[in-house]
Amino acid sequence: MVPQRTCIGCRAKRSAEEMVRICLAGDGQLHLSASSNGRGVWICKKKDCFKAAMIKGRIERALRVSSLTDMQKQLSSISEVLGLLG
Ligand SMILES: [Zn+2]
Repeated sequence: MVPQRTCIGCRAKRSAEEMVRICLAGDGQLHLSASSNGRGVWICKKKDCFKAAMIKGRIERALRVSSLTDMQKQLSSISEVLGLLG
């Protein structure tokens, strides 16, 4: 069976191929990362899920941090890299 991940945007469980993993690096920046090292969250490759993930507190709670610098800006530049904006 394919391992299922839970999207922090829509809360649906999907296979990892349909999703991206976003990792919190030591510098407080969010990075796209397939590796399972460090704290990370999974989000569907969908614009709506990125929007939902930007709701204040959601990604912070998933990453167990109190706040993230420029969280919305960081998430929108990641979704831009993925071609999800527009
Ligand atoms: Zn989703």
